[in-house]
Amino acid sequence: MENKGKLVVFSGPSGVGKGTIMKKLLQADEKIALSVSATTRKRREGEEHGVHYFYITKEEFEQKIRNNEMLEYTSYNGNFYGTIQSHVEELLDNGKTVMLEIEVDGAAQIKKKFPDAMSVFVTAPSVEEIERRLRFRNTEDDEAIKNRIAIAKNEMTHANEYDYIVCNDDVDAAANKILEIIK
Ligand code: 5GP
Repeated sequence: MENKGKLVVFSGPSGVGKGTIMKKLLQADEKIALSVSATTRKRREGEEHGVHYFYITKEEFEQKIRNNEMLEYTSYNGNFYGTIQSHVEELLDNGKTVMLEIEVDGAAQIKKKFPDAMSVFVTAPSVEEIERRLRFRNTEDDEAIKNRIAIAKNEMTHANEYDYIVCNDDVDAAANKILEIIK
């Protein structure tokens, strides 16, 4: 993939505050762009098609896999999530620093394909804190939350596979650290 921009993989357990940090990064530097992924999960209230995700059906997702349109993809909590290659290429061609906010399995696929991609893992001060944040967000039923907590615990064990680990005990400090890393 020929390009001018930089690829940055951005992971961290669900509930760690990646969304809030991401917003700050986008506000801080106009060169930073967030890759919009495709997913088969249901749209949450307040989310928009084409902004938060491209919400597609399982059949559409499987078709994209067969057509080799996905740069990486995974199944997470019963749904498909994946990065659309053409979308990322377009952003890179425009000289953007493209953030892929993806989970650990997808991150490993990207690192394999693009060894030069930089990777950042965001952690919370503790697993209890993640659980508290997920329950506070109140966007999923109890079973989905329990599942996300179990996945989060597993994801934390992959933190050392990333180039940088940033603890989100303060959102502004975490965002500033990531901006420094990117620069
Ligand atoms: P959520 O349902 O909370 O929006 O996302 C669940 C998880 O899927 C998060 O850890 C998020 O980073 C990850 N995710 C979102 N988009 C992608 C993607 O395109 N590929 C992969 N591998 N993971 C993704």
